[in-house]
Amino acid sequence: MGLLDGKRALVFGVANDHSIAWGIAKALHDHGAAEVGFSSVEMLLEKRVRPLAASIGSDFVEPCDVRVDADVARVFDAWAARHPGESGTGAGSLDILVHALAFANREDLDGKFVETSRDGFALAMDVSAYSLVAIVREARRVLASPSSVMCLTYYGAEKVVQHYNVMGVAKAALEASTRYLAADLGSSGVRVNAISAGPVRTLAASGVSGFKQMYGAFRDVAPLRSNITIEDVAGTAVWLASDLSRQVTGETVYVDGGFNILGVPTVEG
Ligand code: NAD
Repeated sequence: MGLLDGKRALVFGVANDHSIAWGIAKALHDHGAAEVGFSSVEMLLEKRVRPLAASIGSDFVEPCDVRVDADVARVFDAWAARHPGESGTGAGSLDILVHALAFANREDLDGKFVETSRDGFALAMDVSAYSLVAIVREARRVLASPSSVMCLTYYGAEKVVQHYNVMGVAKAALEASTRYLAADLGSSGVRVNAISAGPVRTLAASGVSGFKQMYGAFRDVAPLRSNITIEDVAGTAVWLASDLSRQVTGETVYVDGGFNILGVPTVEG
């Protein structure tokens, strides 16, 4: 028996097979999920996302720019149409919802935070934080009770990480939104949590100036002395998706080899 037998999931944020979203989708499938659907930006769909979806037997692949409310609504219209159920609304047809996406202008992930433009700040907040609210709001009409929503965050939300800049501020908003959504939706049986992952080599990470050096140094100082993989993150995602975490909501769960517990990260001589 799989931990997620019979559960249906929708995953936002696959760009390619290095994406954290893909690691999670694959693990949900491997642990027995009955269906894993996908939503990503349109230009990635045919070349990147559809073949990955097909490799785990899925053909639910819907375009969405999370800055556009109508796009978000269309994804859940399509999900409801695919799972009409008795009411014809798709109610209760989604058990697991994964938000694994973020964006900031490259120039805002370099240099000094104080130089962040008004537009750059708004863009990072819109795509990386507000999108969770917009997606969950539309998802309510199909989410089951119980169900599990999760998003991806990073330690730069709490402490200053050089060059992470406006994305750190957006992740702080994302983590706070996670708590407010968890409080709003708990009585409907919907849990909402964030996974704070250590550095993983992905497309998004390559946009953060100095990521390579940070990635290299990470395994020398993290208590568990290794880098983080998409499979490591996916393991915790499976737990959060499963009934094993049924009383966990509003939390930020670290998958970072213990890095966040260090006061002064130091390489042992
Ligand atoms: P990735 O590049 O594989 O995924 C980022 C995704 O965001 C892409 O699929 C991209 O298309 C999507 N996206 C960007 N703008 C969008 C928009 N307007 N509408 C819809 N989708 C949009 O990189 P990843 O590292 O797997 O990122 C997934 C999540 O994990 C992000 O929230 C990221 O901040 C978080 N995270 C990453 C790391 C890391 O080191 N890679 C660490 C902690 C948290």
